[in-house]
Amino acid sequence: MMKKATIRKSGIYTIDLTKIDGDGAFPCPKCGVIISPDDETEEVYQIVETKVKGDDLAEIILRCNKCGSTIRLVGFLQQSIEG
Ligand SMILES: [Zn+2]
Repeated sequence: MMKKATIRKSGIYTIDLTKIDGDGAFPCPKCGVIISPDDETEEVYQIVETKVKGDDLAEIILRCNKCGSTIRLVGFLQQSIEG
């Protein structure tokens, strides 16, 4: 049987911040470069879009400068997920 890895929507990865320990840094799912929220140089990544719900940060979409992957950061809001 052919094993065809279906890439979700052409290189879009989702990182759930509630599953990350430490200071919030995580490796790029594709190339492994460390993406740190404290890094504001834009050398490693760029913020593509920031989504806000009310006054709270809901989602950040980044692009890895090394491999070009799009990475969605979710999990800022832990309440209001029930339902
Ligand atoms: Zn990357």
